[in-house]
Amino acid sequence: MELGLQDKVALVTGAASGIGKETARVLLDEGATVVMTDLDEEDLKATAVKLTENDRLLYFPADIRSLESLKQLHEYIKKSLGTIDILVQNAGVTGAQGLFHTLSDDDWVYTIEQNLHGPVRVAREFLPDLREGGWGRLLFITSENAVQPYDNELPYDSAKAAVLSFAKGLSRSYAMEGLLVNTVSPAFIETPMTDRMMQKRSEEKNVSFDEAVDSFLEEERPHIELKRRGQTEEVAAVIAFLCSEKASFVNGANYRVDGGSVATI
Ligand code: NAD
Repeated sequence: MELGLQDKVALVTGAASGIGKETARVLLDEGATVVMTDLDEEDLKATAVKLTENDRLLYFPADIRSLESLKQLHEYIKKSLGTIDILVQNAGVTGAQGLFHTLSDDDWVYTIEQNLHGPVRVAREFLPDLREGGWGRLLFITSENAVQPYDNELPYDSAKAAVLSFAKGLSRSYAMEGLLVNTVSPAFIETPMTDRMMQKRSEEKNVSFDEAVDSFLEEERPHIELKRRGQTEEVAAVIAFLCSEKASFVNGANYRVDGGSVATI
């Protein structure tokens, strides 16, 4: 399928790792010019070098929580490329974990700042670019947690649910100008984020890493009928489609890439 991304410029946040890194790779393969951003310049550089030596791949560090940092990123893009057509707001963290009575106000503030205020700031900074030229794609990576909350990740659940609602509302405002807004909600994808979760579980249960994954699937994610973690390519393929010309009638949608984890229709 020809995705029609050859003359597009895409910005991917959280691109030094996991889903963001694979998204950058796929968009690049499809012919887009890609700007990768993440917290750490060295990590970005190492990732970029591994991906390709293509001059269609640029990187610049930014913290999505900081308006100042996002403005610097925007300036860099303006000077190097002009405007962006596609924004994949992927950066995020699990944040504070534990039952409600164990979480502090700081835990909530940190997790909401990372997973809600950050995405809102990124969207606001780059909205003028996305509205320009009559064609834009804005994609937020949320989570299965947005619609199926887990009680040991309440700040993350709440932030991701808020992003789902924000994206749905936003999808109404600029669709007639050609800016389409959608979300992708993964579950249990094999990335450093879930590696860290499984490492912690294996230590807590005193079992091997693979046993931790198996017992997590059995006990905590029983509706993933495929009985495995998802792969980053399986998420990036859906992201690339939604960023493309082929998704020209998809707006305000939430695409689950969760192996069936969310137990409702
Ligand atoms: P990851 O930890 O591998 O990568 C996330 C990247 O985001 C990291 O490189 C990190 O440095 C970056 N980041 C974090 N905070 C940032 C900030 N303030 N500014 C800029 N960059 C920042 O995680 P992943 O699994 O690839 O997750 C990517 C997205 O997918 C996240 O939004 C996550 O919530 C979501 N998600 C992942 C899974 C999964 O199973 N892996 C499931 C559901 C949702």
